[in-house]
Amino acid sequence: MALTGLTIAVLALQGAVTEHMHSVERCGASALAVRRAAQLSGVDGLIIPGGESTTIGRLSGLYGFREAICSLAAAGKPVLGTCAGAILLARRVDGQDPIIPLMDIAVVRNAFGRQRESFETDMAIPALGAEPYCGVFIRAPLISSVGAEVEVLASYGAGVVFARQKNLLAVAFHPELTDDLRLHQYFLNMAAANR
Ligand code: GLN
Repeated sequence: MALTGLTIAVLALQGAVTEHMHSVERCGASALAVRRAAQLSGVDGLIIPGGESTTIGRLSGLYGFREAICSLAAAGKPVLGTCAGAILLARRVDGQDPIIPLMDIAVVRNAFGRQRESFETDMAIPALGAEPYCGVFIRAPLISSVGAEVEVLASYGAGVVFARQKNLLAVAFHPELTDDLRLHQYFLNMAAANR
């Protein structure tokens, strides 16, 4: 599917914003760093990057992004939450209130340990093709349970690390930190199909 002409917003409140923008651009689409909710009108999809979910969550409330992101998702636009972004989208967050509870998933923050326990691992992700996919995990959350509407796209250890609910994707690892563009392409294909 042609990915040129698509404009993907990257929530630019905190975290790995430019890395996601580069991945989107390398796929042939345009990336827009959004700092105001009004900038979401007219975009073809949204990426909520990794970073610190407490910070991104607080700023998203302050700047009116929570309602805007719910409207975007309700309009069928694809939303990809990576790492902290996945925590933002979860309906249940272990030990705290949810932030933008759009996806029927439960997450446990920092489930793989602290920063120095960060790791990379090859995983089988059939939705992205037969080649193994290298997942980069940095203070990553684990998706500890998923609802009936949620499709599991990848698991690692005791839980789920990549899940889809209709137009919403939650990813525990960092696809923007590798040269492998397949996960961004998968997301952009969702945006192209919805255009
Ligand atoms: N541990 C962070 C949090 O709980 C997420 C880490 C990340 O996005 N790399 O918000």
